[in-house]
Parts: sequence; structure tokens; C-alpha cells
Amino acid sequence: MLELAVVTLVVYLLVLSAAMSLSDAGDAGKRTREETISAVDALLPQTQCGDCGYPGCLPYARAIVDQDVPLNLCPPGGAVTVRKLEKLLGRTSYRYVAPVAPESAIALIDEKTCIGCVKCIHACPVDAIVGSAKQLHAIIPEYCTGCKLCLPPCPVDCITMIPQTPLIQPLIQDTHKIA
Ligand code: SF4
Ligand code: SF4
Ligand code: SF4
Repeated sequence: MLELAVVTLVVYLLVLSAAMSLSDAGDAGKRTREETISAVDALLPQTQCGDCGYPGCLPYARAIVDQDVPLNLCPPGGAVTVRKLEKLLGRTSYRYVAPVAPESAIALIDEKTCIGCVKCIHACPVDAIVGSAKQLHAIIPEYCTGCKLCLPPCPVDCITMIPQTPLIQPLIQDTHKIA
């Protein structure tokens, strides 16, 4: 009797899950093209880094909608963003593949040169820099996506990009892990 109840519950949950997936896909079909592009763009990190091969998040969003390009081209977004895009668009055909890390993917601040002007903190879209006015600033490597947006604002050019090390790499992958 207990086994029958468990089997019934499992079947119910499977049917419910399938119905919810179909509902999401159905919603995608009701949106206009512009609405879909806006919805896709809203899920992208907005770092405008260009690592996807497009000149910004909105152009990549347009390509996703108009050209059916893969959903896994955004390194800063990682697997979490891929999963959100799949749910939004009702696509399940693309498995997440970890983006190829750029050769110089992590920012590093030269502590001897940093003047604590705070400009890099305002430029970082993912809060990967810590520090306060007139204090040494530092990068949190596991948060840094390698977007390079902190480089241009630095008035003393004390931020450089360094290759990911084996110690840093697992931390970065963990932040992108699918729950
Ligand atoms: S890689 Fe991601 S964050 Fe960078 S421009 Fe493309 S969509 Fe935007
Ligand atoms: S620290 Fe610099 S390179 Fe790293 S995510 Fe922030 S802005 Fe981008
Ligand atoms: S922008 Fe450059 S000098 Fe200013 S706090 Fe950041 S690293 Fe230091």
C-alpha cells in the first residue's frame, strides 16, 4: 500500500513538472520579438565585455532570438544564466559547456601603486573589488569574471589581468555550478 502511494506521488510530481515546462515554453511563444529580446537581455549580466563574440549584451540577446545561436556563449553569466535562458525560451537543446577562459582572466591590483581612488569599485559590475577611499583595493578572485571593465577607469594603471591559476579556477567554476 505504501509502495503504491509513493509511486502515485512520483508520477504526480513528474506530470506536474512536465506541465510546468510546457507552460514556460508556451509563454515564450506568446511574446513579441522585441519583448523576447528584452527578456533575454534582462537575464544577461550587462557587463558589456564582448566575450560572447557580440559587441554587448543586447546584440547577443538579439542574436539568440533572431539567429537561434547557442545560449552558452556568455562566460560572466555561466551555467546559471544558461539555465534561466533555457527556461525563458523553452529551449533544452543546448547543454552548458564551460566557456573557454580567456588567457588573462583575473584582475590583479598592484598594491604599491594603488592610490585608493575607488573608481575601479564603481566600474566592477559584480562587486569583485573591495576597498575604501584612500585605502588599498583588492580583487576577490572567485567573483572576478575577467570582464576588464575596471581597467580603463584606473588613473594610475595599476590593474592588470593575470592567468587563472589552478587554485583560483575551481572557485570560479563553483560560482557557476548548476544547483
Ligand atoms: S559575454 Fe555576457 S556579459 Fe559579456 S557582452 Fe556578452 S552577454 Fe554581455
Ligand atoms: S574586478 Fe575588474 S575584471 Fe574582475 S569582474 Fe570586476 S571589473 Fe571585471
Ligand atoms: S582605480 Fe586603480 S588606483 Fe583607484 S582604487 Fe582602483 S586600483 Fe586603486
